Amino acid sequence: MTSVAQRIIAAVSEVAGGGAPLHAPVFRGNEQAYVDDAIASTFVSSVGAHVTRFEQELAAFTGAKAAVAVVNGTAALHVALLMAGVRRGDEVIVPALTFIATANAVSYCGASPHFADSEPGHGGLCPQRLRAHLEEISDIRDGLCVNRETGRVIRAMVPVHVFGHPARMDELMRVAEDFHLAVVEDAAESLGSRMGGRHTGTSGLAGALSFNGNKIITTGGGGAILFNDVQLAARARHLTTTAKVPHPWEYRHDAIGFNYRMPNLNAALGCAQLEALEDMLRSKRALHERYSRAFADVEGVSLMDEPDGCESNFWLQTLVLDEGLEDQRDGILEALNAAGFMSRPVWGLLSEQPPHAGAPRADLDVAHSLARRIINIPSSAYLGEDA
Ligand SMILES: *Cc1c(COP(=O)(O)O)cnc(C)c1O
Repeated sequence: MTSVAQRIIAAVSEVAGGGAPLHAPVFRGNEQAYVDDAIASTFVSSVGAHVTRFEQELAAFTGAKAAVAVVNGTAALHVALLMAGVRRGDEVIVPALTFIATANAVSYCGASPHFADSEPGHGGLCPQRLRAHLEEISDIRDGLCVNRETGRVIRAMVPVHVFGHPARMDELMRVAEDFHLAVVEDAAESLGSRMGGRHTGTSGLAGALSFNGNKIITTGGGGAILFNDVQLAARARHLTTTAKVPHPWEYRHDAIGFNYRMPNLNAALGCAQLEALEDMLRSKRALHERYSRAFADVEGVSLMDEPDGCESNFWLQTLVLDEGLEDQRDGILEALNAAGFMSRPVWGLLSEQPPHAGAPRADLDVAHSLARRIINIPSSAYLGEDA
């Protein structure tokens, strides 16, 4: 009798060979050349040709009307939430099962996250459970959704495309409409993921991307906000550049802005990474297919596949242990990491993190269950392929 841990290690090593990081960036194209160009131009900071090019190419790739490049995904979420009208004292629906940045960005606006549950298949915000919760705890007053228990306005929701798998946006958009919520998508993990052809991050008012070193493409640190309205995008870009009114030499600012603009040096890296994106997506899908074959007969665990009708970028490959095997998770993680296969559990639920412990919440049964059963395994592009 082999243990679940032994069966998992055998399947992972069949695909990943002798050991592998969780997710490593790959620089095989014009990265060095474009960074050298930026240095040679002396435009290394918040102005430069690469920033504009990066924004235009992101918009073209995603089908958004405009993209605004910023210093990281958290800043992208912060400005997107401000553009959605989130203000001090508001509440914003955030899944409990996400990275801390989603909730922190809400707090930066002076608002409170209001935690909602996930759906069991792919871990995204669950539209049915959210609708039932809002029906139970909110009233619509003067066109606003008001939490009857706290008396606060629930202004927006932030669906997250967990590990690159698209959340159920069509149903979530209907909930948003019925309850008068603005929609900001956290697409930090889902560049290249689409539902029925529509790119993640382009269904609501705005979508936030991240280009941190562990994401599908990287700019070192970086992020972007996707918009379908060019005027909103222009306003957001203005806010990210200290709200300075354009003028050849005068310093005038018409709002409290932010120093959030992506530096040209980082955008140079990003332009080269975008050129490689299609090939990385192909490679990550092929990796998923190899893992699918390796895990087909492994009992006790299933590999998360893309949702029906969607195309995932397969950012992180995800194992979900069967119910009842929760207690084995840490042993499996220890064994995988000891064997050289860098593996991680999912984030601790945000509803349990001290800074957000007092935040309002729905029943989080599914999120609690998933949080104890998820294991991410080595997922880099080109893993196991000949270099
Ligand atoms: C990475 C990530 C972010 C934040 O992006 P940074 O660029 O690290 O600030 C936000 N939300 C999710 C779900 C992420 O994975």
